[in-house]
Amino acid sequence: MLKKICKMEEENKPKHFIRQIIAEDIARGLAPSAVHTRFPPEPNGCLHIGHAKAFCLDFGMALENGGKCNLRFDDTNPDKEETRFVDAIREDVHWLGFDWEDREYFASDYFDKLYSLAEELIIAGKAYVCTLSPEEFKEYRGVPGKPGKPSPWRDRPPEESLDLFRRMRAGEFDEGQYVLRAKIDMSSPNLHMRDPAIYRIKKAGHHRTGDKWCIYPMYDFAHCLCDAIEGITHSLCTLEFEVHRPLYDWFIENTSISKSLKVRPRQYEFARLNLSYTMMSKRKLQQLVAEKIVDGWDDPRMPTLSAMRRRGYTPDAIKNFCETIGVTKFNSLTDLALLEHCLRQDLNKKAMRRMAVFDPLEVEISNWEDGKVDMLDAVNNPEDESAGTRKVPFTKRIYIERSDFMENAPKKFFRLTPQNEVRLRYAYIIKCESAVKDADGNILKLICRIDPQSRGGNAPDGRKIKGTIHWVSADYALKAKAALYENLFTREDMSNLPEGSDFKDFLNPNSVSVKEILIEPSLADAKPGDPIQFERNAYFTPDSKANGGDIVFNRTVTLKDSYSPQAK
Ligand code: ATP
Ligand code: MG
Repeated sequence: MLKKICKMEEENKPKHFIRQIIAEDIARGLAPSAVHTRFPPEPNGCLHIGHAKAFCLDFGMALENGGKCNLRFDDTNPDKEETRFVDAIREDVHWLGFDWEDREYFASDYFDKLYSLAEELIIAGKAYVCTLSPEEFKEYRGVPGKPGKPSPWRDRPPEESLDLFRRMRAGEFDEGQYVLRAKIDMSSPNLHMRDPAIYRIKKAGHHRTGDKWCIYPMYDFAHCLCDAIEGITHSLCTLEFEVHRPLYDWFIENTSISKSLKVRPRQYEFARLNLSYTMMSKRKLQQLVAEKIVDGWDDPRMPTLSAMRRRGYTPDAIKNFCETIGVTKFNSLTDLALLEHCLRQDLNKKAMRRMAVFDPLEVEISNWEDGKVDMLDAVNNPEDESAGTRKVPFTKRIYIERSDFMENAPKKFFRLTPQNEVRLRYAYIIKCESAVKDADGNILKLICRIDPQSRGGNAPDGRKIKGTIHWVSADYALKAKAALYENLFTREDMSNLPEGSDFKDFLNPNSVSVKEILIEPSLADAKPGDPIQFERNAYFTPDSKANGGDIVFNRTVTLKDSYSPQAK
């Protein structure tokens, strides 16, 4: 796997089949700048990392060719759609750096046009109003391998269907009483071609059109025609739409829209992203929010883009990941460790290094005056010289991690022991003189000496100091909280659950824990989204929703990379 990743990073842009198809279209004469894609989210929830895969592809293919990508909200189902999700989706797509300029559309923008195309089908004898109940509809449609049974209303005269359809629109009937169906082929092996419904009655207010409509087009009818209206050339979607493709083509071929087309839109399907230990179904994510199992759509344990932003993911990490996984026609499970690998690679380049102590052990420097402060220079990012340095205060009393001291240490323990010297990061070399203990023998604090000649961390005589540990000044450290996140689910493949189980059976009871920590004072200025590495610990970012004057850091990801060569 590691080899594969490195290879992709080298080549940068793998030649996946969608790139290939577009290249072939261009070779056949399509102007590169005519490549026109769209990203069609339904505003019924927040976008997740799977959607990012889809829109990185939609925008990516357009950008690569100097073409265009539209943002089109697929708002044909008024029951679940809300304006707040429209705003959230805009923010998430922008966050990843994509811009649809003035091409923001809604399927509902085209309701009048779609309605007139439906009337056109009726007049041409290619659609009819059907009176079967939803149960009968299903029964008549039948099962694969056996032809369906035609509806008794299939040959309803066009004038009668037209009249009924207009009255459906006028609100004369109840939900479910009538549907408009395309007249295609009741014996098709593809059930979607067996006279699919194209308009249904729904007496629900719409987030944009209000009460104007009480009939709404079905996705299969609306989507292809919206694509055609907008001049989309490549309509990229996930594999479950493969069986809908004949219908996509049928509606375009059988309406007058086909006459006005410069380029026929074509649908291409790719495998959706499934990520280990991650739930990717919008409906189930919605359930987690509604049942308050998580703290909203942007709870940092969620796979939504708003949650990942809050947790400290960077847009570049997500985009690199989407490019690295490529695009295929086979459903598979992608290892979460690969996403985290891409994240660490980016954070390593960008994160400011800072010191924070999670489990403090006090150290008193015996040869340091009370009240004396030495402002030391500390490098912000060894990977990026331009990130500069900051000042860190050194004082008589400091804290180190309790785990960085051992009284009776094994040979390979290169941190602080009564025998070993250790380097305090950016500061001095220290030596332990004694440990102060309580009556039970627990260590309360250490008394140490510094080598005053070692300011900056190097021994003047060049003697070797193996270990370096981090620390904070007891006088200047700030109190903060660290929210430590683990996977929300314990099961690797959440897209494929054992029969009879519920996805909530696999919730990880330890998906978050909060610790009180001590941080160096320069962190007071850190802003949500700033990538920070607490040295020797993990990557963090300040939480955007901390309240009550609390300073809260969300753990973005740990340092240990299960994909890195060191870990192998
Ligand atoms: P719903 O069940 O509500 O339709 P959805 O996840 O399909 O959920 P949409 O808003 O319809 O949500 O998705 C917008 C686009 O994102 C679609 O083109 C869809 O194919 C694509 N998409 C959704 N989930 C994934 C995924 N896991 N991987 C890749 N693309 C996805
Ligand atoms: Mg969908």
